[in-house]
Amino acid sequence: MIADLHIHTIYSSYSLYKNNKEVIRQLKTQFGKKSLYNGNVPALGKIIPDGLSSPEEVVRQAENQGLGAIAITDHDTTVGNHITQELAKSERILVIPAVEISTRDGHVLAYGVKENLPSHMAAKQTVDLIHKLGGVAVAAHPFAPSKYAPAFFPKKEIIRLDEKLIRGINFDGIEIAGGLKKNQDYWIKVAEELNLAKLGGSDAHTPASIGSAVTKFPSSCKTIEDLLNAIKKRQTSVITRKNFSLITLKTTLEYIYKSTIGRFFINYNVPVS
Ligand SMILES: [Zn+2]
Ligand SMILES: [Zn+2]
Repeated sequence: MIADLHIHTIYSSYSLYKNNKEVIRQLKTQFGKKSLYNGNVPALGKIIPDGLSSPEEVVRQAENQGLGAIAITDHDTTVGNHITQELAKSERILVIPAVEISTRDGHVLAYGVKENLPSHMAAKQTVDLIHKLGGVAVAAHPFAPSKYAPAFFPKKEIIRLDEKLIRGINFDGIEIAGGLKKNQDYWIKVAEELNLAKLGGSDAHTPASIGSAVTKFPSSCKTIEDLLNAIKKRQTSVITRKNFSLITLKTTLEYIYKSTIGRFFINYNVPVS
């Protein structure tokens, strides 16, 4: 089975705005209380969401890509994950409970954890908490070209964990795919040296890039529990499936369109149960 273990939805943006009283006030005035959960964030003035895929688009694209499982890893919120799980119930696709946590030291991916975890703790503390809750902790995108989040994020946040830190923390796996081939080879070596699982995810913020990098699981894996166990047993490998430069170009164009002119035409309404 192949799985994209790093996908963002429109709900990913929620974590960036939840502490901004002015944005919350505007959202409530414009859309009512449920606005934070119906994905109308893109319609707001200058605000650009960090994820542009609705849960429906994610499921559709995952099916088109022949994925057996996906993980919605929105920043510091599990809202999008829960909604996608509900949507995918009638489909063949497994949706792994997951979240991408902003720690003080960089981004950490948690799998098999259903609750929202606190953000901005030390990475080590976060990893310990994930383990305490029975989840799997993965170092996100150590190959990222920049240590900090792009300029349009409200805060200059550290996203990439230092290699020294990764080596010193009890991670279960390292995210490998999602960049230059040179970087991939390097991190595969590090994962093997530390006996960590090698995981692939697209870090897709738009539908077009979903499935561009994936994790290959043993064919015996049938359930979410099986997938988590395969990571724990270091039985995964990584596949980069598409031409990254083409995908990057397409994704960038899609992102620019959807976050500017497009947001006036796209209706992101998602039924909330
Ligand atoms: Zn990240
Ligand atoms: Zn991400």
